[in-house]
Amino acid sequence: MAAGPETDVAIVGCGAGGAACAWRLAARGLRVTVLETGPWYDPARDYRLHRPDWERGRFPHKLDPDAGYVIAPLQHLDPAREGLRSWNRVRGRLVPGRRRRGWRYHRVLGVGGTTLHFSGEAHRLHPAAFRLRSLTGVGADWPFGYDALEPYYLIAERIVGVSGPPRDPTRPRSAPYPLPPHPMSHADRTLARGLERLGLAWLPNPVAILPRAYGGRPPCNYCANCNRGCPRADKGSADVTFARRAVGTGRCRILTGATVLRLLPGPRDRVEALEYALGDGRRHRLRARVFVLAAGAVETPRLLLLSAAPVCPEGLANESGQVGRHFMETVAWSSLGLHPEPQGGHRGIASGLVCWDFNAPDALGDVPGGFRLSPAVAEADLMGPAAYARRAVPGWGLSHRRRMREAFAHAIGVGAIGESLPNPGSFVDLDPERRDGHGRPLARIHAHLTEADVARLERMAATARAVLEAAGACERVEEYGTYDTFSATHVFGTCRMGRDPETSVTRPDGRAHRWRNLYVADASLFPSSGGGESPALTIAALALRVADAIARALASRAA
Ligand SMILES: Cc1cc2nc3c(=O)[nH]c(=O)nc-3n(C[C@H](O)[C@H](O)[C@H](O)COP(=O)(O)OP(=O)(O)OC[C@H]3O[C@@H](n4cnc5c(N)ncnc54)[C@H](O)[C@@H]3O)c2cc1C
Ligand code: SF4
Repeated sequence: MAAGPETDVAIVGCGAGGAACAWRLAARGLRVTVLETGPWYDPARDYRLHRPDWERGRFPHKLDPDAGYVIAPLQHLDPAREGLRSWNRVRGRLVPGRRRRGWRYHRVLGVGGTTLHFSGEAHRLHPAAFRLRSLTGVGADWPFGYDALEPYYLIAERIVGVSGPPRDPTRPRSAPYPLPPHPMSHADRTLARGLERLGLAWLPNPVAILPRAYGGRPPCNYCANCNRGCPRADKGSADVTFARRAVGTGRCRILTGATVLRLLPGPRDRVEALEYALGDGRRHRLRARVFVLAAGAVETPRLLLLSAAPVCPEGLANESGQVGRHFMETVAWSSLGLHPEPQGGHRGIASGLVCWDFNAPDALGDVPGGFRLSPAVAEADLMGPAAYARRAVPGWGLSHRRRMREAFAHAIGVGAIGESLPNPGSFVDLDPERRDGHGRPLARIHAHLTEADVARLERMAATARAVLEAAGACERVEEYGTYDTFSATHVFGTCRMGRDPETSVTRPDGRAHRWRNLYVADASLFPSSGGGESPALTIAALALRVADAIARALASRAA
């Protein structure tokens, strides 16, 4: 008789979704194996904020984050939309030519995934975001509402340690945030005054950053450099929260340097094993009762497409051709300026306040999809003197030195992130020519902005500029956005969940419609992106919900 599977659940990827799913399943008594292509990071040793050359690099990647995907040629730009082109004072226009530039899908390969260099924002989606199509007639609704996710949001917030406002009229809560809000930085107060002058409301931004010691982690020191990796490990990235706890159960092992190459479908609509390679190139197989894909919204569909076999010639879970469809990117705009008074924008937390006034999917009236506003100096990395000299203060020699002294620490910025509408031009497929070191086709990202996305970007830019001016910025020094550059920090939607197998890849509980032991637990599941909320908390909450479905299925032997 053949031996049983080596593990109950095999999870591919240990980022926001994979780590949360692993913890929940292990905490419920199941044996979990996580295969993670990247390494563990050691916060004290690997991040370099303490070094004099801290400004030279952003996140210290150990594996090339751009390996494994390419970006297909993007759309032509409309000469009538010149006001949305990216520029700065030193270099002028940042994207030459008339075509949108495919710059990067920003991600981190390692335990913790992309949360290792996230800014710590820990947002719940607006309750109306779950009904995008019902409210606006475009995009898709989620197959369940905010109430179904609320208990999972609460668990995720407690584990990552979220600091948030005492009251938030936009998002009902069944219990308060685990931690109080942070004190506001000087720059955030300046921005708050600008919002108030325009009659806009703001709240302390909910963040997975600790105002006091919590869960064995120390409080934040307000260095505002979360994107470079938090050396104190107080930021609630998935490595120091879910992954650490999952391993602590004694039932979860995380295999690092293990790149999953494909899944092996078998008879009776079940996946039998997965194949992975270790650093030495040797290939191995792992059998499990259940398989979970959580490799991010580009790699997860790639793995499904790479797993094509005689029983599923178009790819695993791709019976309706939906795998890779409905790709959603980050629709964003930032306006940065100099204030006559010093602002010290290089201190504090990266994003201390948020304005939700335009966030609901129908908030803009004639343009579907919402957006939010928040501070942008840290996110834009206009923090140290090198960034000022390269982007905000042109010139050379003595006069440059004088202008640098006058300008440094005066930057303030307003960032807007908005809804990204799924459309037929945005999808992930396999590149027909280019291959990775294992000989597998690369993922190819096709990203198209709809007319509604561009119209929303115009509203976002106009509002960001108005807030900047109302906050007292005397001169704009840099503006950039999604219109002329694909630069995605939030990606979603390539294995959409839904009730109809013709229009979705998984059921509402994350299980592939046809494949009884195959689940997805990352940003690929999102039917819509939300109106600019940062996604990691929602990804974690969804992954916890998927984990509960798996545990139920295993208990009833349905998986
Ligand atoms: C600069 C920046 C700032 C951000 N700020 C915020 C923020 O403030 N708040 C917020 O909510 N979100 C933020 N985000 C976005 C957030 O980090 C991501 O949306 C989130 O981490 C995505 O979760 P995921 O589980 O889908 O994928 P990931 O977190 O990317 O995890 C995928 C994992 O799979 C692994 N993997 C990939 N392929 C394989 C393979 N073949 N085999 C094995 N393992 C594999 C990867 O190494 C990775 O660990 C930010 C992102 C960036 C880049
Ligand atoms: S601001 Fe706080 S959470 Fe962010 S890197 Fe610095 S110490 Fe860590």
